[in-house]
Amino acid sequence: MLDTLLIGSNNAHKVEELQAIFAGLPLRLITLHEAGIDHEVDETGTTFEENARLKADTYAAISGLPTLADDSGLEVAALKSAPGIYTARWALPDLDNPHRSYARVLEELKGKPFHDRIARFVCVIALARPGAETVVVEGVLPGIIAEEPRGVGGFGYDPVFYLLDYDQHMAELPAEEKNRISHRAQAAAQARTIIEGWVRGSGQ
Ligand code: IMP
Repeated sequence: MLDTLLIGSNNAHKVEELQAIFAGLPLRLITLHEAGIDHEVDETGTTFEENARLKADTYAAISGLPTLADDSGLEVAALKSAPGIYTARWALPDLDNPHRSYARVLEELKGKPFHDRIARFVCVIALARPGAETVVVEGVLPGIIAEEPRGVGGFGYDPVFYLLDYDQHMAELPAEEKNRISHRAQAAAQARTIIEGWVRGSGQ
């Protein structure tokens, strides 16, 4: 019987977003902390997919539970797709002030024209089950890196991520709207379909 899904993360914001997206599934989502896992996987992959797989496979092996892990980040075309898999690390110098985790990207793009500020959020989700092939899905959200932050919602780079379709920064969107359109929401919607298949197959 499949009734528990381990989320291979301790990022409370991510887990909250996933909980909202998976609402209604007959599944209890548990965090690494709730599963008593304090092992941290070294993200040694060279792509979002490799890192997501590494985390999902490792935590599924440790816990014996079906496990979801994601790797996400920001790609700026004019910065040769940086920060990419190093997005969280770029944010590190500003860990003292989580609301300024986007400082480096603003610095790198200082004085650059609009067309150099084209960017996208990417989220890759890996779903691992002991004894089965790991499945990988991806979501992408295009946007523009603004010159100044706006809004107080979301996390990470949301205050400087301008959405053309909305004429708003990601951090200005209500949480429900972000959870409908985000890169993570798009990947999670595909993951939800796969998990629904697992639940049906397990006879629930
Ligand atoms: P990771 O997926 O935990 O490796 O983190 C990737 C980094 O990308 C995070 O630390 C955030 O800074 C950034 N990031 C990922 N998703 C989002 C988002 O939805 N909004 C803003 N920043 C994000």
